[in-house]
Amino acid sequence: MTERFDAIVVGSGAGGGVVAGELAERGRSVLLLEAGPHHSAADHMRWEARANHEIWFPVAFAEPPAPDQPPVPLFRGRCVGGTTTVNTKVAVRPDAEDYSKWYAAAGLLGRDGEPFAEDDLLPYLERVEQRLGVRPRTDWQRCVTAVEPGFEAIGAKLAPVMSYTDPNCMRCGSCMQGCPTNAGKSTLNTYIQPAVVFGGLELRAGCEVRRVLIEDGAGRPQATGVEYLGPGGDLQQALADVVVVATGALATPGVLLRSGVREIAGGSPSSRLLGRNLGFHAARLIAGLFDERMDAHMVYPISSHCKQWQRDADGGFLVEAATVQDPIGFATGLCDEQGLPMWGQALVEVTRRYRHISSLLTMVNDENTGVVWVDEDGRDRYSYGWNEREQQRLDASLDTARRILEAAGAKRVLPTGVVSTHVQGSCRMGSDPERSVVDANGESHDVMRLFVGDSSVIPRTLSVNPSLTIMALASRLAAHIDADERGYLGTGARMLTPA
Ligand SMILES: Cc1cc2nc3c(=O)[nH]c(=O)nc-3n(C[C@H](O)[C@H](O)[C@H](O)COP(=O)(O)OP(=O)(O)OC[C@H]3O[C@@H](n4cnc5c(N)ncnc54)[C@H](O)[C@@H]3O)c2cc1C
Ligand code: SF4
Repeated sequence: MTERFDAIVVGSGAGGGVVAGELAERGRSVLLLEAGPHHSAADHMRWEARANHEIWFPVAFAEPPAPDQPPVPLFRGRCVGGTTTVNTKVAVRPDAEDYSKWYAAAGLLGRDGEPFAEDDLLPYLERVEQRLGVRPRTDWQRCVTAVEPGFEAIGAKLAPVMSYTDPNCMRCGSCMQGCPTNAGKSTLNTYIQPAVVFGGLELRAGCEVRRVLIEDGAGRPQATGVEYLGPGGDLQQALADVVVVATGALATPGVLLRSGVREIAGGSPSSRLLGRNLGFHAARLIAGLFDERMDAHMVYPISSHCKQWQRDADGGFLVEAATVQDPIGFATGLCDEQGLPMWGQALVEVTRRYRHISSLLTMVNDENTGVVWVDEDGRDRYSYGWNEREQQRLDASLDTARRILEAAGAKRVLPTGVVSTHVQGSCRMGSDPERSVVDANGESHDVMRLFVGDSSVIPRTLSVNPSLTIMALASRLAAHIDADERGYLGTGARMLTPA
């Protein structure tokens, strides 16, 4: 027996969790396949190594353009809820400049055939914000109030972040191990679980999708289902009227390439763009070592930010305050004042002063110069290569954070290397098939009934934390699929059919 659904959604993170939940709530039968495990709040605890092992992907690296340059570590969750289960839940709407970059990059048009703009996304942003209970975090602790004067000293202002955490947040600091109270609103506890209980959502964790099944349909290729490895390692198939791939910007290109989309499309311009234009929103933590205790490990990690330099013309970066990594991440990522990795006695001395650290997080606007590709062994690989403007923003953001911390009285300022937690853009959405992989509704230009519903569709890297936008785009996609303009949802029923 092969099962049949209205929709199969692959990946349960910011994008996939919302598409699957909303389609199920609209009465569609949905199969949600997730490679990682299903952990609830009761399973989460402040045990960094265990969480890294159980609910995160092993750290991947973007390879450098030259051997003397460092690789860029890439972080993401691997569990039901995806990266929303382990992220810090800051919710920021895109800036007007972000939307104009989307049109410039891929000719993305909105409802009225005009360049895509805020009006096209606003109803979905509002809907997601309401569901997640987005609220301002004004409950700043010592680690934030201590750095605030440093911002003021250089003429900048800190503001509370908006966040998808509810008032049950105990400020325990363990967001990245999964929230133990459900105060942190992942897609698991807002979209997926309610749809499993009340709607038509079938959730299967521990199921890794190998490929999308693509067949000839009335002269055009069309997606008909997926092939996946079940929890026991057995190969299974499921069929559906539409397939939504939402495995994240690092994994989605590989899923589509291994499904043969490029070959089936005869190497069309859109299929050649699969995996191109990967953006990183490259980040760095800059640790300030203070005389007094900060205890930045026992707070809600990111409660404030400064948007003064957000637009390209103003510098092209965001600064968030203030946090400290958990001990393993802290000790393995820290560099000295010269930017060289710390180790030995010097590292021991700084680590002993862990409770005195308050760090700023910088994230820079990038121009999507990275690539995802599949090597001859079938493995996903990644590369980066900053252009001059990206490098200038990285340097300026580090310099600014250093000045802020010194002005706030930090005795030492120690950065990490560049990392990425906000990958985007590897299957660009656009109205121009020469410059995009999926159309303005998220459907493949090459394969009918095949949609992409995650961070990969963002045409140009956002200047803000991306998850709210990814969820809003996913909500928009669910509305589009459900409206069924193309008449894809033929069966409309949850049923089993013989293979
Ligand atoms: C430490 C950290 C902190 C962050 N903090 C914030 C923040 O405060 N605010 C913000 O806006 N953003 C934040 N982000 C980023 C944000 O969480 C991500 O941008 C967002 O979750 C990406 O959504 P996605 O749907 O593209 O992918 P994900 O949320 O990563 O979901 C993809 C899912 O697909 C699954 N998957 C992968 N391959 C397969 C396969 N073959 N078969 C089945 N399933 C598969 C994965 O296991 C995963 O569950 C943070 C990220 C990190 C790492
Ligand atoms: S700090 Fe708040 S949101 Fe984060 S894990 Fe603790 S209770 Fe949950």
